[in-house]
Amino acid sequence: MSSWDIVIGQHHAKALLAKAIEQRRLAHAYLFWGPEGAGKSALAIACAKVLLCDAGGVSACGVCPSCKKVNHLQHPNLKFIFALPGGEGKKNDDGDSLDTEVRDEIRRQMAQKARQPYAPIAIAKATTIRIKDIRAIRKEASMTATEQGKKIFILFDVETMNEPSANAFLKILEEPPDDTLFLLLTSQKEQVRQTVLSRCQTVQCIRLRDDEIAGALEARETIDPARAVLLARLSDGNYARALAMHTDDLDRQRADAVAFLRGCLGNAVLKFMEDQDDYFSSKKREPVEQLLHLLLVWFRDAIILKERGHEGVINHDQLADLERFVSKFGAADLAGCTVAVERAFELLRRNVYLPLVLLSLTVHLKRLLLHGT
Ligand SMILES: [Zn+2]
Repeated sequence: MSSWDIVIGQHHAKALLAKAIEQRRLAHAYLFWGPEGAGKSALAIACAKVLLCDAGGVSACGVCPSCKKVNHLQHPNLKFIFALPGGEGKKNDDGDSLDTEVRDEIRRQMAQKARQPYAPIAIAKATTIRIKDIRAIRKEASMTATEQGKKIFILFDVETMNEPSANAFLKILEEPPDDTLFLLLTSQKEQVRQTVLSRCQTVQCIRLRDDEIAGALEARETIDPARAVLLARLSDGNYARALAMHTDDLDRQRADAVAFLRGCLGNAVLKFMEDQDDYFSSKKREPVEQLLHLLLVWFRDAIILKERGHEGVINHDQLADLERFVSKFGAADLAGCTVAVERAFELLRRNVYLPLVLLSLTVHLKRLLLHGT
């Protein structure tokens, strides 16, 4: 068994990196790009583990002190950089340090990621990779290492670098410090600054297939096959989402999504917002993203049911509810509803005020379903 096996699928990317390591022809900066949940950060950590392993092979041994430190994501030569709250809009983001709440959140999420390499890093209200953190890279890189080997920096969501951060990072890329490797990750490659992009080798991480996700869920989480297939199909190629749906009680979430839809078609808007307070006052994006995703699957299922019948419906065990929905709203613009949900996704990603996104979605769906406009 190879240490690369921790990464689900992505055979091309793994082979490419293993070969570069074997031939000692690693570039100093890579951009791993591809959809969310495809395993970009798992790939980056797997790559770092091989490079830092004391055995020095093309696969990590898993037992040496270095490997153990990487397993805990606490290797002194492995640093993580991600978007944090603040930064943009302030006179300078140099001065203020993070408050305790944010620091605890980071610690909690990193510990979670050490246990589960597919767990996402998403700090609440994070907007930007701060220039302060980019400057720290140079300092770190120039310091004498306490441990031998490369210094590896993994940068999450690099599209969130603002201009000053990107410029500071560019200077580092132009004259990369010795024995340093940068692994940049993004699910929105088109938003990464061209100047940064052009100085990296790009490695594509493709969307995971349903059978790859189902297989991993069975093998790693000992989920029974039928359930694993359902989770995989609902996850839309995103292993992290499949895991989240598994741990957070998928059936309840699906029931919640249906309740949300029902509520948003009613007349009592305030009562609806009160009932859906978990979503409307959510401090985190993930539960709302999850809701949106399930709504999306719901509308897609309704379209499939209407046009082609039962075959191909994902929420097979909700067929009775779906049929009722289609008999009532089958004539409405269901495709328009999927567009409205996708639009809400986009706004969330751009950190638009969450209650506003949900309210606007509610108004849209109601109009599309009840009034056909
Ligand atoms: Zn090792």
